[in-house]
Amino acid sequence: MRTIIHVDLDAFFCAIEEQRDPSLHGKAFAVGAQPNQRGVVASCSYPARHHGVRSAMAMARALSLCPQLIIVPSRHAAYRAASAQVMALLHSVTPQVEQISIDEAFLDVSALLPEDAEPEAAYRLAQHCQQRIKRELQLSCSVGVASNKMVAKIATDYGKANAGKKNSPQAICVVPPGEEAAFLAPLPTSALWGVGPKTEAALARLGLNTIGDLARHPPEDLLRRFGQHGYDLSQHARGIDKRPIVTFREVKSVSSETTFVHDVTDWDQLHDTLRELVDDVVHRLQRHQLQGSTVKLKLRWPDFTTPTRQMTLPAPTDETGALLGAATSILQQLWIEGTPVRLLGVGVTGLSSREQLSLWDAPKKAEEHAKTPAREAASSDAPPASEPAVADSPEWQKHQEKQQKLQHVLELLHKRFGPSLVQRGCRNKTIHIERFDND
Ligand SMILES: [Mg+2]
Repeated sequence: MRTIIHVDLDAFFCAIEEQRDPSLHGKAFAVGAQPNQRGVVASCSYPARHHGVRSAMAMARALSLCPQLIIVPSRHAAYRAASAQVMALLHSVTPQVEQISIDEAFLDVSALLPEDAEPEAAYRLAQHCQQRIKRELQLSCSVGVASNKMVAKIATDYGKANAGKKNSPQAICVVPPGEEAAFLAPLPTSALWGVGPKTEAALARLGLNTIGDLARHPPEDLLRRFGQHGYDLSQHARGIDKRPIVTFREVKSVSSETTFVHDVTDWDQLHDTLRELVDDVVHRLQRHQLQGSTVKLKLRWPDFTTPTRQMTLPAPTDETGALLGAATSILQQLWIEGTPVRLLGVGVTGLSSREQLSLWDAPKKAEEHAKTPAREAASSDAPPASEPAVADSPEWQKHQEKQQKLQHVLELLHKRFGPSLVQRGCRNKTIHIERFDND
């Protein structure tokens, strides 16, 4: 029997802001951009939630619900640094950690418990993680425990939703083995992974409103109507989820994507978002001493078609400049000016361990690889490229060398003074990146 713990920090961005400014404690506040910058709520404190404020809500709407709402600008570098500390702590519990977002992770703790362990033992282990995060990092989290990832995550959400009006839920919810289906049965179908508003509505038309309804429905009918997704839903509704924990070393790609609250038609806004996404990917690559050689870009139009395209670089890299340059070039090719964009994503594949390049080796390394032409491949659902890749042009190489040097200096500064002190410049800081800290 597997035992999976799901850890989710409570209102994470807000918790970090409270550490910076303790006077925010107990107050209704939201992290995000000002309403006059068309800002949205990236995270909100629990007192703000009691007024109906939610993540992803337009800040103007949040203010109308809660006029006394304090707006705090987001500081993603600080959140990433704190997230890295939390993940390091979880890795000290077990190496079987799968980070799924900036403030969420699964732990496979099966090996830490006896085969016939009582649910009480799993509860104590969950409590141990929660208390360590509180004591060592002064952060609150909620924890779900179950025999698989899906049920553990839903258990966390359930625990949070039922924690009552506290300043922070700090919930622990354990679903004992064998009780998965019974636990899920009364919940709405939308509580399942992969059930968004469209699927929820399609299921409701079949009279399937709860997960229990879904579990009782013939799986072959769901397979016929919704394909493999329908079959998976049927399994999940019965509390069955065999997906293993995927630790970082087994990961084949590092990616980051964002869905815009309002479709974006402006190049500057798209590019600034791309920069944030690349920064996020670079940060994760560097944390794990990895480099990637292929950059993949994903767009989603309002009709949900999702073209993707990728570019293979002359050499593996973890440099922001090189990856942003390639991603920008693909975006320029893929995006037709003025077309609304619903989602933007960037990923890096072709991962390898990072070689330690010194500041002085970098230009030589770039020269060596300058002879290797860049390759570009379009995925099946993307139109063929009309322009060749630019990754082998002399300008690009020069740009990359400059960026490598800059990156190296930045890293040294980060090591010495912490990540929040020095950041790359950004043309327009009032961007609409919605990497939400949902709960
Ligand atoms: Mg959270």
